[in-house]
Amino acid sequence: MRSISIFGATGSVGMSTLDLIRRDPDAYRVVALTANSDVDGLARLARDMRAQVAVIGDSAKYGALKAALAGSGVEAAAGEVALVDAARTGADWTMAAIVGCAGLRPTMAALEAGGTVALANKESLVSAGALMMAMANRTQSTLLPVDSEHNAIFQCLAGGSLDDVARITLTASGGPFRTRSRAEMQDITPAQAVAHPNWSMGAKISVDSATMMNKGLELIEAAHLFPVGLDRIEILVHPQSVIHSMVEYRDRSTLAQLGSPDMRIPIAHALAWPQRMATPCQPLDLARIGRLDFEAPDPIRFPALRLARAAAEAGGVAPAILNAANEVAVAAFLSGRIGFIDIAMIVEDVLNRYSAPTPAAIDDVLAADAQARILAGNVMERMIA
Ligand code: NDP
Repeated sequence: MRSISIFGATGSVGMSTLDLIRRDPDAYRVVALTANSDVDGLARLARDMRAQVAVIGDSAKYGALKAALAGSGVEAAAGEVALVDAARTGADWTMAAIVGCAGLRPTMAALEAGGTVALANKESLVSAGALMMAMANRTQSTLLPVDSEHNAIFQCLAGGSLDDVARITLTASGGPFRTRSRAEMQDITPAQAVAHPNWSMGAKISVDSATMMNKGLELIEAAHLFPVGLDRIEILVHPQSVIHSMVEYRDRSTLAQLGSPDMRIPIAHALAWPQRMATPCQPLDLARIGRLDFEAPDPIRFPALRLARAAAEAGGVAPAILNAANEVAVAAFLSGRIGFIDIAMIVEDVLNRYSAPTPAAIDDVLAADAQARILAGNVMERMIA
């Protein structure tokens, strides 16, 4: 029986992970489940999965969580320190699926504990990639990519060597506005932006997919997980989301991983690794799909691609600044305060205004993150005024 913790259990990736675990309950013992504010959802899951502890990020909700878990035998905890403590308990396998840089400390704590960490929380790796990879190295914990593209690359690299890689191609659906002009993007609403054509995901990553910042974050994520050099990582738009990414070796042999666009497939890969497990996912029916299309990404209509590559090339704290400004701008867009095309403009403005020394510790990253959030807020206020 393996012990499992899921950070961000109430979210899209968390629920997909629980869906797989529920199908074989005798194989897993659930240690910690966490959420940010969804007390009812978290309490229901914790009771159902007989978790040891349920942690709510918002400490003001401790009382409500404790009441919701009364008589269940599940311990209730709240706040950022409790999240980190739960990560430190060191489950055999931890799903890092908190959204945003808020997942950084818990993810680092899980890596420090030395177990296997399945990483969905790309923002933490984008913000603190070098420190996170160094921690995984130091503790010999296993970091398994869950993002479908990075999971695909990981699979294509099995048995291969990074030294032999000529090129990594991250595929991108292009999002719901792939064919729209900049002018047509002016009036996009949050409801339109979260309606992804292929994937069902949380609101933040859905907006990131629509701006293509998601692919920019994934570029930075890939550069940390698969250090072949940024110039060897490219992005290719592939609207059907069937090929999840590709690795070309120096003999010009290209390996691709294909599958239905269902996050349970990469999650199952990380859950069963190094073995395989059955999933309830749809088999790939290429005859029905009929054709696979590809096109070059357009950094003019989707400036987030350009900004993310520039931040990756600058290195140091630049990716953390990019990420923090983007988180603020996406939240403002979702709440109707700014327009869709303002998101990348705010990120660019903050990147141009702020730099900091290369972070030596997580506190440095979080300080830069906090500063970038303040600046993004200021830029936004000026834009709205
Ligand atoms: P969701 O928004 O669906 O879920 C986010 C989870 O994180 C929820 O459990 C939420 O709790 C919790 N959370 C949010 N803010 C905080 C906080 N400040 N502190 C602690 N917990 C918090 O997101 P997704 O599941 O879509 O995405 C999760 C991560 O996985 C993201 O980094 C995303 O980029 C990545 N990812 C997602 C994919 C997908 O298909 N969804 C695909 C690939 C990567 P609550 O419910 O209480 O708000």
